[in-house]
Amino acid sequence: MKEEKPYVPEDNRLNDLTKYAEVKKRMSERGVELIEIAKLTCELQSQYVKDIKVETCLEHVERVVMKREVQHAILTGLELDILAEKRILSEPLLSMILGDYGLFGIDEILALSIVNVYGSIGFTNFGYVDKLKPGIIGKLDRQGKETGQCNTFLDDIVGAIVAAAASSIAHKYSV
Ligand code: MG
Repeated sequence: MKEEKPYVPEDNRLNDLTKYAEVKKRMSERGVELIEIAKLTCELQSQYVKDIKVETCLEHVERVVMKREVQHAILTGLELDILAEKRILSEPLLSMILGDYGLFGIDEILALSIVNVYGSIGFTNFGYVDKLKPGIIGKLDRQGKETGQCNTFLDDIVGAIVAAAASSIAHKYSV
């Protein structure tokens, strides 16, 4: 019997560190810097962890984005936003994503795979952030409607990274 060889990427392009850099670059191209996510995380966590610093929050945000599941969710979501913007998707999916159709729901589900890594506190934090749409998340939501940039997946991704980083901080500092 002929043995199937496992797939091995030729140039190691798929390792987590390389993907981290790629994810960071692509988010920046879509108008989101990790430091902004860290600032928002800091605001949300300051009521629980006294004197928490933005630098500490940034470390947790970076730790979240280093995780493979998180990277895969970000890459998938951003890609769908971009494909919708280029009108390459087919209907009815195109209109649902482009119009940020309220009952579409897959953008939130994809984002849940980010908080999933952090257990139930991650889910609770995501619900809170999703309802409140604070700071950059609300901005992305509005910007999408104003400029034509499709942020249907991106706003939930950012919300989920905030929620995940907040959970990571809670796990570390809670007594
Ligand atoms: Mg959305």
